[in-house]
Amino acid sequence: MTRITKFFSRREFLQGTAATFLLAASASRLQVSGESPKKVLILGAGLAGLAAAYELKKAGFETIVLEARSRSGGRIFTARDPFADGLYAEMGAEYVDAKDEFMHRYCKQFELKVLTAKLYDAIFVRGKTFRMELFKKSKERLPFEGAKPGMLFGQEAEYTKRLVALVKDPEKLPPEILKLDNLSVAQLLTQEGAPQDILTLYTYLNATEETARPEQMSALSMIRGHLQQSAFSELQDEGRIFGGNDQLPKAFAKALSAEVLYDRPVRKIAHDQNGAEVWFEEEGQMRSIRAPHLVIAIPFSVLREIEITPEFSSGKMKCIRTLSYGHGMKIAMQFRRRFWDDPGSPGQRIFTDTHLRRIYHMSIDQPGPRGILMSFTSAEDAQKLGDLNEPERLRIARQEVTRIWPEAPQFWEGGASKYWNQDPWLKGSYSFTGVGQDLDFLQLAQVSEERVHFAGEHTSPFRASMNGAIESGVRASKEILLRS
Ligand SMILES: Cc1cc2nc3c(=O)[nH]c(=O)nc-3n(C[C@H](O)[C@H](O)[C@H](O)COP(=O)(O)OP(=O)(O)OC[C@H]3O[C@@H](n4cnc5c(N)ncnc54)[C@H](O)[C@@H]3O)c2cc1C
Repeated sequence: MTRITKFFSRREFLQGTAATFLLAASASRLQVSGESPKKVLILGAGLAGLAAAYELKKAGFETIVLEARSRSGGRIFTARDPFADGLYAEMGAEYVDAKDEFMHRYCKQFELKVLTAKLYDAIFVRGKTFRMELFKKSKERLPFEGAKPGMLFGQEAEYTKRLVALVKDPEKLPPEILKLDNLSVAQLLTQEGAPQDILTLYTYLNATEETARPEQMSALSMIRGHLQQSAFSELQDEGRIFGGNDQLPKAFAKALSAEVLYDRPVRKIAHDQNGAEVWFEEEGQMRSIRAPHLVIAIPFSVLREIEITPEFSSGKMKCIRTLSYGHGMKIAMQFRRRFWDDPGSPGQRIFTDTHLRRIYHMSIDQPGPRGILMSFTSAEDAQKLGDLNEPERLRIARQEVTRIWPEAPQFWEGGASKYWNQDPWLKGSYSFTGVGQDLDFLQLAQVSEERVHFAGEHTSPFRASMNGAIESGVRASKEILLRS
């Protein structure tokens, strides 16, 4: 606390010797004379904010992180309490891609092991189970009009190949491709003659990963995915941090220690060419801190409700106000026994077109005999389930699981769900490229405004990932280093 010039000791505060700061306080006192030029204020203790603070601290900066929750990690939320026998479940971010350079770098630094996850075993669509191995080998066809044999992801490529062929250099897209940013994925596929079933498959495949609907997603962004072969597929090489993903933010937070101030929701940001002043709640009172550098690492879905004075540039404000966020939900279901490992079971990791969408063995690297099946569901299914109360969500989850494993009810013990759109410090799942947001939104999101820098998955080329969150925090720290 002594490091925070405008902060008061708890006793001073309670004695009322210190003035409290009202939201309406004028921003005219934003002079930072006498302030250490090496002081940085960081908003949000998710991976982005933590990585920025960690790197800046290493470079000799004085960092203060303001976090609304009473824990670090934001969208990394390893739930341990509701489950028996020491089991845990990742209610937020879960998989680390083999190519996630920043994640692997910091996991190594903090001596955390990333265990390779199992690939998908089966597909359950339109009431029928397809075992992945057989499906691929015998070139079975999904019961969807226009579906190619032996293929799951990428069925829509048949209807984008005419446009993809127009691109000679992915760095220089022709105007007729660039204008696709004004079309949705649904519009483009329909225009190119894709049957409704191909759109339905896309909904349960790529759109599920993005937690969005094809009607909201930029067609240009889909074409870029096809150009770079960067879209998610059933063959993705993924892993998870052994022992729980929360160990990574906790390791960052431990290294920063007292510099992370929890239970401090930010309510107002004032800034000028000398730095910024931030107002936040502390034990029911408004307080403020000012610093010559500010990193905003909270999602735009929350930032758009925070007072910013004066407003940032019009492009930045447009991006803050309109950047698309999806709907995401996890439902963890605890069972007395791991019946999904029994002979005859379709397997441990399954793509479905049920309300639960992806269903898989969460506790694969945790000791049994109990186990947790996880559902990662998104878009309209997450919204539908999210509108229900917890017992109803769990009732439907149990019912849906029973369609795949009829024996499930006899081992059912209960569960827990997390609908991130109801989380006051997120109000969404993660950002995606909405219609009209492909051309300039990433640049608008990440560009700094005087002494205010921006981090968070939504500002990274690796958006919607833990890797992107860290990358953005490291990038923001470099921007400040370059300025100083
Ligand atoms: C259901 C789900 C599944 C996912 N699965 C994966 C996956 O498998 N693999 C993967 O790589 N990624 C996954 N992600 C995405 C990943 O979680 C995010 O990209 C990443 O964690 C974002 O980190 P961040 O630091 O940008 O934001 P956050 O983690 O959201 O951190 C922002 C922080 O700011 C705080 N904050 C917000 N408002 C305020 C305020 N007013 N004042 C102070 N603090 C505030 C928040 O409490 C939070 O701690 C998933 C996300 C969800 C929701």
